[in-house]
Amino acid sequence: MEVTYNCWHGCHKKSEGCAHCYVYRRDESIGKDANIVYKTANFNLPIRKDRHGAYKYPSGTVFMMCFSSDFFIEEADEWRKEVLSFIKERNDCLFYCITKRPERIEECIFDLESYDNLIICCTMENQKRFDERAPIYLSLPLKQKEVMIEPMLERIDMSAYIDRIDRVAVGGESGDEARVLDFEWVKDIREQCKKAQVAFSFHQTGARILVNGKLYEIPRNKQHSQAKKAFKDQY
Ligand code: SF4
Repeated sequence: MEVTYNCWHGCHKKSEGCAHCYVYRRDESIGKDANIVYKTANFNLPIRKDRHGAYKYPSGTVFMMCFSSDFFIEEADEWRKEVLSFIKERNDCLFYCITKRPERIEECIFDLESYDNLIICCTMENQKRFDERAPIYLSLPLKQKEVMIEPMLERIDMSAYIDRIDRVAVGGESGDEARVLDFEWVKDIREQCKKAQVAFSFHQTGARILVNGKLYEIPRNKQHSQAKKAFKDQY
C-alpha cells in the first residue's frame, strides 16, 4: 500500500527546477501563500491507530513524504524530530522523500545510518545543480542513492558520479508554462545508466516533449503512461 504523507506544507523556491512548482501554482489558485510552512492535519498519519489499538496503516505501507514541501525545509527543524521518531517506530514500513536540499540532510539527521526504512532521493534538474548537489548527496552514509532529474532542463553529463548512484529517474515538467523536455536528453541519461548498470526509469513526459524535432503536447493524464511506453527495459 502506498500512501501520500504530507507532514508539512509550504516551501521556498530553491533553484531553476522550482520555477513552476505545482505547490505554488495550486496555492496561488486558491489565494494561499506557499511560502508559509505549516504542520498539516496529517502530521501523525503513520502512527495513527484504529479503535482496537492497531496501526491504521499496516506493516509494509510505503509512505511517500512531503509532496507539498521539502522534508529538509528549515521551518520544520523542530517538527522533523517527531517525524523521525515515527519513522523509527514504524520500522515495519518504508518512508520515501525527495529533496533539493542535500546540504541539510546530515545536520537534520545526525544518525542517518540508523534509518534503514527511510529512502532519501535527491533531485537535480540541470548540470549546474547536478555538479552542486551530487557531490554532497553521494558523500552521505545512505544505503540507497537515488537521483531524480525532474523537471529535466538540459542535457546532463553524470560521468563523474554515475558509479556511486543506484538509481536515476527522469521526468519533464507539467503545467501550462511547462518547459520543453528533449527526448534526446532522456535517451542520453538512459545510455549513461545502461553503461554503468544503474537502474533507470522515465517517470513522466511532462506537458511538452520534443521527439525527433517534433513538439508534442501531452495531456496530464497521459504523461506517466506515455513515458512508461517509451522504453521496454526500464525498471
Ligand atoms: S523544493 Fe520542491 S516543493 Fe519546494 S519550491 Fe522547489 S519544487 Fe516546490
